[in-house]
Amino acid sequence: MPQNIVIIGAVALGPKAACRFKRLEPDSPVILLDKASRIAYGGCGIPFYVGGDVADIAGLQSTAFHMVRNPAFFHDLKGVEARPDTEALAIDRAAKTVTVRHLPTGREETLAYDQLVIATGSSPRRLPIPGMDLPGVHTVGNLDEAEAIKNAVAAGKANAVVVIGSGFIGLEMAVAFADMWGLPVTVIEVCDQVLPGVTNPSLAGIARHHMEEKDVVFRLAEQVTRIEGDGKAERVVTNKGTIEADLVIVSVGVSPNSTLAKAAGLAVSDRGGILVDATMRTSDPAIFAGGDCVEVQNLVTGRPVVLPLGSMANRQGSIIGDNLAGGDSRFPGVVGSGACGSSTSAWPAPGLTLEGARSAGFDAVSTQVMASEPGPFYPEHAPDVPGAGGRARHQAGARRPGGERLRRRPGRQDQHRGGHAAPPADLGRRLHRGSGLFPALRRGPWTFERPRQRRRQHPGRPQPRHRRGGLRPIVGRGRLLRRLRHRLPRTAAR
Ligand SMILES: Cc1cc2nc3c(=O)[nH]c(=O)nc-3n(C[C@H](O)[C@H](O)[C@H](O)COP(=O)(O)OP(=O)(O)OC[C@H]3O[C@@H](n4cnc5c(N)ncnc54)[C@H](O)[C@@H]3O)c2cc1C
Repeated sequence: MPQNIVIIGAVALGPKAACRFKRLEPDSPVILLDKASRIAYGGCGIPFYVGGDVADIAGLQSTAFHMVRNPAFFHDLKGVEARPDTEALAIDRAAKTVTVRHLPTGREETLAYDQLVIATGSSPRRLPIPGMDLPGVHTVGNLDEAEAIKNAVAAGKANAVVVIGSGFIGLEMAVAFADMWGLPVTVIEVCDQVLPGVTNPSLAGIARHHMEEKDVVFRLAEQVTRIEGDGKAERVVTNKGTIEADLVIVSVGVSPNSTLAKAAGLAVSDRGGILVDATMRTSDPAIFAGGDCVEVQNLVTGRPVVLPLGSMANRQGSIIGDNLAGGDSRFPGVVGSGACGSSTSAWPAPGLTLEGARSAGFDAVSTQVMASEPGPFYPEHAPDVPGAGGRARHQAGARRPGGERLRRRPGRQDQHRGGHAAPPADLGRRLHRGSGLFPALRRGPWTFERPRQRRRQHPGRPQPRHRRGGLRPIVGRGRLLRRLRHRLPRTAAR
């Protein structure tokens, strides 16, 4: 019997769940709503749009066949009713309805559902400091913000950039400004290394050194206290000094958007992630949730974690689509791996850092393997650059607002074509497919923190996977990768 499906949030998980479900149950109506006006885009491509690799913002919404994923696309090709500019205000679980408001007109409506999906994602964290609201200060969370940043740069309004935070997104944005636009960029990081919590200090040092060669300046172990300016951002003040900047990017992590779920009485963790089971059902069996707004299990530590990655959102969307149609697909959890890079280097993070492993109770050691790709016999091999994955294969052109033509090495997207680097992705997916992170892991340099044995016991915590056999010392990349593949459950590696 046809059932009404309502999906709140239409970027990664929402569209995936909608389309998967429609393939299984074409006769059931699906409403996919989002308060934003642009839907179904690849957030991962935002740094490439800002950096110019993707010239048109519609490129981030396009399919491989250059069709823009707009409401007409969803209606005509997928049979899904997509409603942008529509905010979900409240969920009435007893009546099984969602109250929504069409933002341009203010008109409110009540939508009935048989099953509901919450795909409200996450929002960039803001710093509780004076000056956050000055013009010229941006977070990077959606296409509107990306467009505002790119417009400012393209209009020549940005002469000096400060990026606050050196996680994946902060570094990718810094590369975009320095590599493509040739702007002076300073990255300020409160920790004493870049990619904190993502990789270990030695690999982080290589990443930093590599970006310093592109004239990116790093100020580590420094805390931003305020942003100052006369009507717009002009300088960033830290506990150690002042940096002139008319464009400030605040990239200090994200928080799950779980207010709606919490107000509806669904179980939400202290960290703000909606609690779901392996079928992605919330504490209400008629309501699913997934993507950046939920907590999932880390397969190594057995602990819950919020892992805001598009690759995970897509996989969970597919699982939710199955289960909406009565299936029993399961999401087993994550390893927590990722990768990012610049023109000539990739910095994969294969899961826990050494500190992360130790704080999870493992007696862990860290091993670093230096490798390069392509192999040393290739003419393009560039062994002299630490972390280099081979010299650039071609030059990509770009134009600065003044008209001066810039030459630069290919960005990460170019590397993808050459099979080099990968966007942040989870090992479970990437290793199995032999794509994406796989070449990034092969090419290194990378560090694998090996959980050796448990130091402390935590009663009640699910058994970590390594206890059933244990990861052995790394003796070779091939062996490690084979082991990891076998270790991952089939569903994780689909
Ligand atoms: C700059 C950048 C680079 C990234 N790079 C990568 C990468 O390389 N690899 C990777 O895997 N991931 C990357 N990510 C992360 C990835 O984009 C996200 O993990 C993914 O988009 C999450 O999808 P989602 O559907 O869960 O939520 P989101 O993409 O956050 O979408 C949630 C949507 O819900 C809407 N919404 C929220 N509340 C309501 C409401 N009450 N009513 C209606 N609509 C609502 C929001 O407007 C939003 O459009 C990147 C993200 C950014 C910002």
